Amino acid sequence: FCGRAQSETGMLISGESANICDACITQANEMLIPNGLTRGKKKPLTADQSLNKKTPTPAELKAFLDEYIIGQDEAKKVLSVSVYNHYKRIFRKEEDDGIEIEKSNIIMVGETGTGKTLLAKTIAKFLNVPFCIADATVLTEAGYVGEDVETIITRLLQSADYNVESAEMGIVFIDEIDKIARKSDNPSITRDVSGEGVQQGLLKLLEGTVANIPPQGGRKHPDQKYIQVNTQNILFICGGAFEGIERNIANRMQAQTIGFRNESQEEAFDEKKPLQYISPADLKSFGLIPEIIGRLPVITYLNPLDAEALKLILTKPKNALMKQYQKLFKMDDIKLELDNEVIDFIVKKAVEYKLGARGLRTICEAIMLDYMFDAPNYKGEEIEITFAYAKSKVEKLNFKALSAA
Ligand code: ADP
Repeated sequence: FCGRAQSETGMLISGESANICDACITQANEMLIPNGLTRGKKKPLTADQSLNKKTPTPAELKAFLDEYIIGQDEAKKVLSVSVYNHYKRIFRKEEDDGIEIEKSNIIMVGETGTGKTLLAKTIAKFLNVPFCIADATVLTEAGYVGEDVETIITRLLQSADYNVESAEMGIVFIDEIDKIARKSDNPSITRDVSGEGVQQGLLKLLEGTVANIPPQGGRKHPDQKYIQVNTQNILFICGGAFEGIERNIANRMQAQTIGFRNESQEEAFDEKKPLQYISPADLKSFGLIPEIIGRLPVITYLNPLDAEALKLILTKPKNALMKQYQKLFKMDDIKLELDNEVIDFIVKKAVEYKLGARGLRTICEAIMLDYMFDAPNYKGEEIEITFAYAKSKVEKLNFKALSAA
């Protein structure tokens, strides 16, 4: 077909009176794709191509988040804007005027179970980009027992099916970033392998570097070929509970007012919701090194969930827990009915035992367990969960053990 000798090709396929080589087949196939003439499945746009065509606007992003996440308006807004800017920065290459837009990595502060992971996950789902969750607590400096920071990128690459180009536009959520804070009460000169050392290791990754990833995952060894992944366009979202940071915030706010006692300022500080005043200075006094804070320029916070929010979480989002149970029972052709008081009771218990949104699930499981066990026997029927029934089930739960968890 092209005149190459068999020895110059990878594979030669013979027909009745002609031969064609692998290179020609590939080339011909590529010519067919744009015209939609290939048999088989039409190749879907990769995430980056479709994002390039149309980056969703911040309002679209927020509207999508609203479907899945209750409250947390401030965080949703901040996240939507920085994600929008992030992808604009990647795709819209205007003429070179010397202005370089910096990356907008994000840090979210809020109690556990308030929706930090859910926010990051939902954004990635909407954008259809590779996403992974990394736990900062298991990270150690390279060379120590534990995972070194590059394993984060390994995981992202895995979730992108080893498509490097796609992984390079992914989103990484680093959970429990507060756990690698410098331990100020540790004056020993031994190395702080899981604290400041890890922060140093993360710096390059956050800013943009070429990470060398072993192809099969696992540990690196010297004479191995690496996959190179550039982290420059990967968006990092960090989350942490930063327990006790309210004190740092209050101290800073009060120190500011000393000497310049200003009535309006004093009134403005709402002690019940100190997180809304969070600033880089507070992260620094908590033990994050300034270089890390500098690479996480967007700070936002999540509110603790009150009873009202928990009730909504149980029933309103697209995949609300109650909707999930209803679907599960429906699969067995069973209609699930709950008395109104049951919902309030579940919420009350979750608040009482400080279990947050995660606790809702535990309580619901306890209530539903027996019915789920017998579900196959209830086909075509209706199950009604009454307040008395729910109460009797929850009373058996060992909450002491739960709240300690
Ligand atoms: P965090 O990362 O802040 O510790 P998660 O995002 O993992 O918490 O939340 C745990 C679970 O609680 C989620 O999977 C979700 O079901 C529920 N949840 C928490 N906050 C919200 C919220 N604001 N809206 C809806 N569901 C929530």
